[in-house]
Formats: sequence, C-alpha cells, structure tokens
Amino acid sequence: MSGPQEQSAASNKKFIGIHFVGCNTYVRLYPNAERTHFEGRCTKCGKTVKVRIGKEGLNERFFQAPCMVNRNDAFY
Ligand SMILES: [Zn+2]
Repeated sequence: MSGPQEQSAASNKKFIGIHFVGCNTYVRLYPNAERTHFEGRCTKCGKTVKVRIGKEGLNERFFQAPCMVNRNDAFY
C-alpha cells in the first residue's frame, strides 16, 4: 500500500504500455507531475524508463525496452 496516486477522473488520464523484453513484463507508464515524460519501471528488475511525451503522437502506444542489461534510466 505505497503509492501516491491521485485519482482525478478528470482529463488527460493517459498511459502507455511498455514491454520490458529482458524480464518479459508488461508495465504501464504514467505521466510524471509535469507531464513531460511517462515514467515507470520494470516490476521484476526495477529498471526505470522514461518516455518523452510528444505532442500528439503518443496515444497509448506500445513500446519495448530492454532491461536486465544495464540499470541506467532509459530515455525515449
Ligand atoms: Zn526487467
């Protein structure tokens, strides 16, 4: 029970799906506070990933990211 989640059923509740190929996990990335990136991490190895929010191109697109390769943040 540790997740500062604000459930505002208002606008712009977007997320994107990402597939971590290293662990074969599917995770949803949610916008950060400033809505500049989608952020999330692999639920198995904990690798974090950030996907820059484009203007209109990112609508629940599906990404793939390597993990368990290096633990640095991945930017897209
Ligand atoms: Zn992983």
